[in-house]
Amino acid sequence: MESEIKKLLAKAKKEHILTQGELTQILAYPSGSLLYAAADEIRRQFVGDEVHLRGLIEFSNYCKQNCLYCGLRRENKKIARYRMEVDEILAAAARAKEAGYETIVLQSGEDDSYSTEKIVAIIKGIKALGVALTLSLGEKSYDEYEAYRQAGANRYLLRIETTDKKLYEDLDPCMSWANRLKCLEDLKVLGYEVGSGVLVGLPSQTLESLARDILFLKNFPVHMAGIGPFIANPDTPLAAYNKEGKNNLELALKVMTLTRLLMPSINIPATTAMEALSPGGRFRALQAGANVIMPNVSDENYRRLYKLYPGKPLPLEDIKTYRANLEIKLKKIGRSIGLGHGASKAFLSGN
Ligand code: SAH
Ligand code: SF4
Repeated sequence: MESEIKKLLAKAKKEHILTQGELTQILAYPSGSLLYAAADEIRRQFVGDEVHLRGLIEFSNYCKQNCLYCGLRRENKKIARYRMEVDEILAAAARAKEAGYETIVLQSGEDDSYSTEKIVAIIKGIKALGVALTLSLGEKSYDEYEAYRQAGANRYLLRIETTDKKLYEDLDPCMSWANRLKCLEDLKVLGYEVGSGVLVGLPSQTLESLARDILFLKNFPVHMAGIGPFIANPDTPLAAYNKEGKNNLELALKVMTLTRLLMPSINIPATTAMEALSPGGRFRALQAGANVIMPNVSDENYRRLYKLYPGKPLPLEDIKTYRANLEIKLKKIGRSIGLGHGASKAFLSGN
């Protein structure tokens, strides 16, 4: 069995191609260590030892959608809602830039109270700082994506969540998988650096389905891939589903490593959900193919209210100290903080 897995990994390292059956076989193999080592090697070879930091501003936790897994879903009455004002968002971005963050990520629930004009003003204000800007505002129209792009937004993150259409539509009531895909295609046409990704460990999700997810990311092809373990949120209908998150971190790490082997020059974040499931999870991810971290740079009061899932790490230090401490920890594993905007190499080379 082990020799078969080794053979498949050698092929993946050389050709960056695996079939759905081969991916499923590797996902089913109980030990992940061979896989982590292979992805770490490919990561070093293709994107180097730099870890790019993205300063994340979660500016509103209002959402009109009702995804069964997410704490921001509109029917969750247990969450205190907030919206940041334009000047608060710009001040947070300026502080992050001052502390050495070269990319800002703006994320929120699907909150229509921010008009296109307002979002455009925020984009222009942030771009005036000279940073790269990623948006993650959910599904919007082509015209809205175009307006954001023209205002200077560089990147967009929209996870497909799962390529199993039925599972997606069961878990995200009133949302259509076809529209999610259309949004990703619109973003590609508009010249965004496109990030997508999946949730790992959803109810009734199979290894075959995860293998298809990896191939979807490769064939699209995305420039960034965020792979996150599902974490049960007590204030959602999925509260009781795999409460302890058993096996989800290991499985998410495996999906992430296979994504790295098949897409050697994309950016892959060590996701916050990995850290939330197990302290140190993000560092494990960095040593298994990931090359990006997205620390939160908005005020602590807002950070704790943006609760997609429980257990989110809430660092006590200010963002400058956090960055300095992170630099020391990264040095110990032979890594450094990336300089510049840290665009995806896959994007820069036109893939
Ligand atoms: N509203 C936007 C962006 C915010 S949600 C959107 O949905 O695209 C960002 C991501 O959080 C989602 O894509 C989803 O993959 C993740 N997420 C939500 N609930 C989660 C949970 N319970 N466990 C892990 N990740 C979750
Ligand atoms: Fe809203 Fe995004 Fe959460 Fe769905 S995953 S409820 S769209 S914030």
